[in-house]
Amino acid sequence: MKKFLAVVVVMLSSCAAFAFTEGDGLFQTALLQSLMQGEYDGVVTVGELKRYGDTGIGTFQDVNGEMIMLGGTVYRALWDGSVEVVSDDETVPFANVAFFDADITRGGVSAASISELKDTMTAIVREHGRNQFYMARVRGLMPMIHFRSELAQKKPYKPLNEALKTDQREFTCRDIRGTIVALYCPDYMSGLNTAGWHLHFISEDGTKGGHVLEVETSDCVVEMDIMSDFRMIVPNRESFDGKKLSVNMQEEILQVEGK
Ligand SMILES: [Zn+2]
Repeated sequence: MKKFLAVVVVMLSSCAAFAFTEGDGLFQTALLQSLMQGEYDGVVTVGELKRYGDTGIGTFQDVNGEMIMLGGTVYRALWDGSVEVVSDDETVPFANVAFFDADITRGGVSAASISELKDTMTAIVREHGRNQFYMARVRGLMPMIHFRSELAQKKPYKPLNEALKTDQREFTCRDIRGTIVALYCPDYMSGLNTAGWHLHFISEDGTKGGHVLEVETSDCVVEMDIMSDFRMIVPNRESFDGKKLSVNMQEEILQVEGK
């Protein structure tokens, strides 16, 4: 009996070292590359997405706003700068979600720019394994944050970088408290998503948010969930199967991400 207990303890501690538990993984709906090519029809409902996570980022049917999932609530940051809570029957063409548990917590993070914030977070990633997946929350005061959303698209859908040339709307807030939900994908994910960080913001009062283009943070808390498990679902339909998804879209993705 004693021997058996010892084995159990060893197994648990090795699990903890890899921060891997059942259900502790990253879930992705379709590819960023299919979204980029105008695949804006939903793949899963918001209700289904909640079975795979409580925290994440994405967009909605017709690219109708930026998605921020936080604490199990799904918010839509609209083109007019407003935010609404989204019902479970709305559909989602592209998203990444996970059940968030903070494997890493770092306080006192003050960054003068989005690139400085990303560098700080990437340094943490390097310490824990650059080829893992990370969901992050950056909470606290943002002296300045600049974010965007976009108007819903109509069929026939244009590629995302074309659509955003006319239909992106940008907003700046000062001295606002809130949470950035950020996803880190390793370099080898560049064919399915984008390598590095992708940041969305929701204010503490849930009234402002969007895809982050620039930010200053003041004494913020950065938490990260390390994930060693990745699952993706793709739509089974003609429009998706007609797309050539192995083409290199790095330039278009950088435009859309605002890098
Ligand atoms: Zn985004």
